[in-house]
Amino acid sequence: MLESINVAGEWRQGGGDHYASIYPADGSVTAELAQASIDDVNEAIERADRAVHQTGWGSLKPHLRAGVLYRISQLIRDRAEALAQLQRRDNGKPISETRALVASAADTFQFFAAACETLEETITPSRGDYLTMSVHDPLGVVAAITPWNSPIASEAQKMAPALAAGNAIIVKPAQATPLLALELAKLCEEAGVPRGIVSVLPGSGSIIGDAITKHPLIKRVAFTGGTKTGRHIAHVAADKLMPVSLELGGKSPTIVFDDADLDHAVSGVLYGIFSSSGESCIAGSRLFVQRRIYRAFMDRLVAAAAQLRVGDPASEQTQMGPLVSQAHRETVEGYVALGLEEGGRLLTGGKRPTGELFDRGSFYTPTIFEGLANDTRTCQEEIFGPVLVALPFDDEANLIAQANDSVYGLASGIWTRDYKKAWRVGRALDTGTVWINTYKQFSISTPFGGTKDAGIGREKGRLGILEYTRQKSMYWGMNEAPLPWADVTGGDAS
Ligand code: NAP
Ligand code: MG
Repeated sequence: MLESINVAGEWRQGGGDHYASIYPADGSVTAELAQASIDDVNEAIERADRAVHQTGWGSLKPHLRAGVLYRISQLIRDRAEALAQLQRRDNGKPISETRALVASAADTFQFFAAACETLEETITPSRGDYLTMSVHDPLGVVAAITPWNSPIASEAQKMAPALAAGNAIIVKPAQATPLLALELAKLCEEAGVPRGIVSVLPGSGSIIGDAITKHPLIKRVAFTGGTKTGRHIAHVAADKLMPVSLELGGKSPTIVFDDADLDHAVSGVLYGIFSSSGESCIAGSRLFVQRRIYRAFMDRLVAAAAQLRVGDPASEQTQMGPLVSQAHRETVEGYVALGLEEGGRLLTGGKRPTGELFDRGSFYTPTIFEGLANDTRTCQEEIFGPVLVALPFDDEANLIAQANDSVYGLASGIWTRDYKKAWRVGRALDTGTVWINTYKQFSISTPFGGTKDAGIGREKGRLGILEYTRQKSMYWGMNEAPLPWADVTGGDAS
């Protein structure tokens, strides 16, 4: 049976190509759906534009809109296990991770419900015989375009603030992982989001994603994905004078100083690169270790990496599931071949795991390279897989220069016991997030985004809701007499 898509609240088969969501652990089909067509896109956006006004969603009192978002959050919690299992099938992540992603989606709706309910509009200091205030209006219809690596969490991060601010939203999930966005649309409907306010339109990015971005009624695009796609969307946005947020790629440096707590550093570095099988924009994929401890640290790291449990995503014990697809595994393998060509030495991994469990899935072993200079392609390009490159460093100045020598600036990590050094280095690193003695921790209350080719704009944080509004200034005349310029009272204002 073909799954339905959601066109402005109507559940039906899309007019586009058929697509199967594959379970990457064994290649079986989880669901098939008829994706959206360009006609579906146009219809969803036009109906959404009418729905913002006709349903009163855009002008609903904030505490009432917040109530709907709280209900979405609660429904996600009620259905958490089923959602986590579906997500595991949709992209092959281990169940422990998909449970965490589902919980974070619930937290995100709860957080933006609170942000919506407590958002204050300001009275600005008056500079004349008038009262000045600044209010926030919804933009209208906005779009979310998301990648396959963290579905439900990525979609929630865009849907929650967009809905909280009173907009309608068109969601275009990654082709590889359409199912969780569709489930979210069902929960929105059940929670009382009016019909037409949410659409989920799975389909190819270059056709459906592009048509959504270019549509004149789309007033903002929140994008997470690769830098090349992000740059294309920025060009389209420039033509339309449309605001965008672009959460793009990374090649994040993690730095281990010789005074670090090595137990913490080893486990943090492993988690930073190998959780999510390295399919994470914030993966700590470039490791810099101070030369005095380099060999000893690498020996410990390599031994621990070789012990990581790669396997069945349904098992609670599994730390690394398969990569998202066979094609993506081939891309990762291509990078490992490149690393060897560029003179890198493999310390561990660099192959597919063997055994019956692994025969039909796109699994790959945790892989660590050394002996590569920071300017090689292997050290500069985002691999988006379980591949770490390790480099020794001597002093702080040289370390900062190398760490910042990247087109990306998404995140970084510092392991040291010296808090003054952590402060100095943290301030000098040109990245949107710096983790100190921890890594890959996430909080909805803390803004997130990149610098340089890692993107523009920030998501999350209380003020994240403002990204989905336009500010309006209002002046309320308080003068007793008419404005003097026209002089209508002939100088006699009494
Ligand atoms: P991608 O190819 O850029 O795809 C992301 C989304 O954009 C997908 O839904 C894709 O559709 C769509 N898309 C593709 N071309 C488009 C176009 N011309 N117009 C509009 N939409 C288009 O990225 P990916 O390879 O799937 O995902 C991995 C990338 O995402 C990595 O670079 C990673 O670092 C980045 N990422 C960043 C963050 C962050 O927060 N900074 C988080 C996660 C991932 P299809 O499904 O057809 O491809
Ligand atoms: Mg893609």
